[in-house]
Amino acid sequence: MKRILIGLAAAALASAGLLVPGPAKPTVSADEWPFYGRDEKEQRFSPLDQINRTTVGKLGLAWSAEVDSDRGQEATPIMVDGVIYVSTAWSLVYAFDAATGKQLWVYDPQTPKDSIASACCDAVNRGVAMHDGKVFVGTLDGRLVAIDAKTGKRAWQVDTLAGAPKTMRYTITGAVRAVKDKVVIGNSGAEFGVRGFVTAYDSATGKLAWRFYLTPNPQGKADGAASDDVLLAKAQHTWGEGEWRNSGGGGTAWDALTFDPEANLLYIGSGNGGPFDYQVRSGGKGDNLFLSSIVAVDPDTGKYRWHYQVTPEDSWDYTATQQIMSARLTIAGKQRDVIMQAPKNGYFYVLDRKTGQLLSAKPFAPVTWSAGIDMKTGRPILTKNVHYQDGPSLQQPGPFGAHSWHAMSYSPRTGLVYIPVQLTGGEYEKLPAFKHRPIGQNAGIAMKEFPEDQLDAIRKASTGQLLAWDPVAQKARWSVPKRYFVNGGTLATAGDLVFQGDLEGMLAAYDAAKGTKLWSIDTGIPIIAPPISYRIKGEQYVAVMAGYGGAGALIGRIVPDRPRENGRLLVFKLGGTAKLPTTSSYTPPPIDVANATSSGDADAGSIEYARTCSVCHGGNASVAYTADLRRSSALGDAELWKSIVIDGVLKDAGMVSFAEILTQQDAENIRAYVLRQARKAEAKETN
Ligand code: CA
Repeated sequence: MKRILIGLAAAALASAGLLVPGPAKPTVSADEWPFYGRDEKEQRFSPLDQINRTTVGKLGLAWSAEVDSDRGQEATPIMVDGVIYVSTAWSLVYAFDAATGKQLWVYDPQTPKDSIASACCDAVNRGVAMHDGKVFVGTLDGRLVAIDAKTGKRAWQVDTLAGAPKTMRYTITGAVRAVKDKVVIGNSGAEFGVRGFVTAYDSATGKLAWRFYLTPNPQGKADGAASDDVLLAKAQHTWGEGEWRNSGGGGTAWDALTFDPEANLLYIGSGNGGPFDYQVRSGGKGDNLFLSSIVAVDPDTGKYRWHYQVTPEDSWDYTATQQIMSARLTIAGKQRDVIMQAPKNGYFYVLDRKTGQLLSAKPFAPVTWSAGIDMKTGRPILTKNVHYQDGPSLQQPGPFGAHSWHAMSYSPRTGLVYIPVQLTGGEYEKLPAFKHRPIGQNAGIAMKEFPEDQLDAIRKASTGQLLAWDPVAQKARWSVPKRYFVNGGTLATAGDLVFQGDLEGMLAAYDAAKGTKLWSIDTGIPIIAPPISYRIKGEQYVAVMAGYGGAGALIGRIVPDRPRENGRLLVFKLGGTAKLPTTSSYTPPPIDVANATSSGDADAGSIEYARTCSVCHGGNASVAYTADLRRSSALGDAELWKSIVIDGVLKDAGMVSFAEILTQQDAENIRAYVLRQARKAEAKETN
């Protein structure tokens, strides 16, 4: 690999004392996309410019490849030495010839389908890492697997959940990162009640190197982990008495892990509190370190270096897991080495990356939960009833956040960051009596279906935006409105283009300086993943995964219902003439619900559905990308329904038994509610 040779040459020169200190030389070939964010800065900027403002009109499909799953496709492919490696839903990894699309191998980790019962947001996987001839993937059920890049055969695998209580419902959806001679991975599950941590393993052998917990040990003990010192000395005292003793507090690191070779730091973005409600979680006391924080650790040892807490006292699912991008900016006439983040809470942060000092923070989307960031303390100025302690509290952003995992990109040529912004709000309300449950969500707030008469208004208020943000001036430069709040991640290129796909299945290229749309194509499949770019034999390509699912799709009713269809990798080049595949989707016909009856209470079922079922089957019983319950053949039959919900006869398909937390009456109430939803849907279709 070219970049390794360049790296070795640089190391040899450095050891001979021939290199003068200065800005680090690029060690990543312009032709490749070898890291999740292309290079270790995670800027997602391709230096290629063959596809540019003048030529982009000739962009056409070069090839496409169908993958074996109709669930959400969130992965960023990587491209090394002419081969694309990409993970898909259920944590499979595919290798394709990047020029022709020929499949070289597929690795199936046999992820058990019942692991979906621990996943908040679909069976997604965001990407692989590569180092020294191995490809690394985290699996939904918590394994880290090393795969031989040539053969597609497993080299080693470890259980990353070793040492964590077996009762905790962890998953992995995030991309693995290769950092020097180690591979690093976090996990997800804050909504279910887990304690977040990040673990590093030797990339050659899989031997554990270090672990860093993002919240203190609930029993106040040392963990024998790299985080022990700082958790006991600094973090423990920032927690009051509350449910975190059972839930582990949350703080899962499910997306951002950025290595800074110049500072030799690994930046970890940590997630929300579990349960959400600050009063219940921590008795309304303390900042709750290291929830919703950027934590810098030594990548060799895992030892704490500094932190900045983006959202103290989190009550709103405001994760700081969003992409952490490093860059050199000129601020007030001075060159500053910074990291930038646009987390869920709606502020764009610029920090000194060596010290963690806050340099600036301004809202990039409507924000009601706070009145700004106090630059003296670095803390948000909280607004009234923000912890919903005195009744329901409507806030912007809502739990989906103003920006989530959908990657942003930065062009050093325009100096702008291109953010897929989510314009949503959310009503937060206490759960009357929270009790941790062994299965299902433990978010700890009341979840309700959207009132039918407000659906149109909510739909209109929940839109998206492609936003070009000036990180120095902390100002918007241009924006493009999007119909739905969820959209794809972005790619910036030296051709002065920004690429983004959207939920309507359009992939578009915009002028990076002005936002004018210069090219688009209707792919027929919703896109939530970010595109990449690479070059082979002088030809530049743009590639993106397409496939509907993930957190956004689960909200239901304000995003499109989609028929089930397999995801695809779509690859474009100038003059490409391949045909877009016709989608071969199948939507089961609505069942005849006219004569079906239920003895259950549909209103009670609605509340239980929202808490227990909506996490997979969608808000308001609406989503078609998992089983659309309104079309389930079990809906008309109370016995069959019970055998699935209580007895778990479909466990192997991922529908586990809920006997631990639901009574037969609960199951019947849920059936009554779904029947009601099915009738509503049928009435609409026949109108
Ligand atoms: Ca969350």
